[in-house]
Amino acid sequence: MTLYYQSTRNPENRVTASQAILKGIAEDGGLYVPEAHPKLPVPLADLVGKSYQEVAFTVMKAYFDDFSQEELQACIDGAYNSDKFDTPELTPVKKVGDAYYLELFHGQTIAFKDMALSILPYLMTTSAKKQGSDKEIVILTATSGDTGKAAMAGFADVPGTKIVVFYPKGGVSHIQELQMLTQKGDNTYVVGITSNFDDAQSQVKALFGDQALNEQIDAAGYQFSSANSINIGRLIPQVAYYVFAYLQLVSQGIIALGDAINVDVPTGNFGNILAAYYARQMGLPIKTFICASNKNNVLTDFFKTGVYDRQRPFYVTNSPSMDILISSNLERLIYHATGNDAAQTAAYMKQLVDQGHYQVTPQMQATYADFYGGYADEAQIEDSIKAVYEATGYVLDPHTAVATSVYCDYRQETGDTTPTLIASTASPYKFPRSVMQSFQDLDPEVDDLTLVDQLEAISGVPQPAAVLEVKEAQIRHNEVVDVAGMKASILAKLGL
Ligand SMILES: *Cc1c(COP(=O)(O)O)cnc(C)c1O
Repeated sequence: MTLYYQSTRNPENRVTASQAILKGIAEDGGLYVPEAHPKLPVPLADLVGKSYQEVAFTVMKAYFDDFSQEELQACIDGAYNSDKFDTPELTPVKKVGDAYYLELFHGQTIAFKDMALSILPYLMTTSAKKQGSDKEIVILTATSGDTGKAAMAGFADVPGTKIVVFYPKGGVSHIQELQMLTQKGDNTYVVGITSNFDDAQSQVKALFGDQALNEQIDAAGYQFSSANSINIGRLIPQVAYYVFAYLQLVSQGIIALGDAINVDVPTGNFGNILAAYYARQMGLPIKTFICASNKNNVLTDFFKTGVYDRQRPFYVTNSPSMDILISSNLERLIYHATGNDAAQTAAYMKQLVDQGHYQVTPQMQATYADFYGGYADEAQIEDSIKAVYEATGYVLDPHTAVATSVYCDYRQETGDTTPTLIASTASPYKFPRSVMQSFQDLDPEVDDLTLVDQLEAISGVPQPAAVLEVKEAQIRHNEVVDVAGMKASILAKLGL
């Protein structure tokens, strides 16, 4: 039996996994969601001791059931190997203080985005083959800093694809920007925009829905797709590491099979935490989902009140990958909370665009009562980095520090001592200025690459290859446009 995906905004829009991956987003602006959540096909006990690749295969085969075993295995072999990850477990779990850090930053670009973006190009080109599509795939991506680099690393020089990345100029860390601007590959393009991530993401979504533009590129032999977490091909691979992390806790003797855990996720576009929610739908025992935000705390308010209100100041913070006021993947949770009511979901999303806010019903809130929202401001982030380092010698990146700070609040408020996995979403080496700033006042003249050396000295963790590369590499991209110029910029790259 095939598992179908349908748009959150139109139940008639029903496709297979490979079609959903290829399209990225539904034509009606909705996101593809599975019609029913598959269960793990084997008891968890059978998965204890299995490799990351084996667990990923089991999880992904359940969701992407129109891929053959051979097709999916080839995708996994291409993505999850020692060329792309610097540790054999891929996502080690480390006990630090009274929490368990799920390190998701051992891929090529040292952010958790690598977990999905190293496999997405394989999933997408396989999907194109399955669908008999002869079009060249043009990936359009808005990035708050990490997706762009990870997506380009995945798609660089992949035949039959081009990738265009838009990032907020001035809204990302120096290392993040250098990583993007030095990207190699004749099919990669990086464009700064003079606006924030939300504007970039909204405009990319509008271009996906621009019928005249789609017809124009179709006639020229192209088709758009997305590498953002609105693509189900991004989301499902992330389910795997929650299952794998749970099994590691069992193997380490921290929990017994069947015990519940909490997960705590530093959240921006709501993709990573939604993947944990999907893991529970598959049967993983998760009790509480701790949704940690920075000062852009629209989700904290949402989980406390049921009101989603984006009309508030937008802050550029030292956890830039979470500087988001429109968390796209929340639409999927909303859809599930309405009992899969596409019309109601579409109405909420329209209200968000037209009025800037919406309010869900108490019945809907009850369906996700196990989500806890909290946030950390800039000072709390720095305090967390410093406190954890002083107590344990472990250095957090600012995003992971947000989750750590919120976890402390959660424990204080609830007294809950359930073992908690904290998603560690980036290496501290990606944000050396914010990290080192937590320990001492910095001379603004000191450049980030010097700070990288200081970070190595205090953490004792060797600099990852991704950082060494940036030190050597040439700048290859320098285009900057405003939001209105994004369409023309894309067309120029396609020779149109
Ligand atoms: C993207 C990102 C996040 C936010 O993840 P979402 O899936 O968008 O919620 C958090 N931390 C880092 C380092 C990221 O790159």
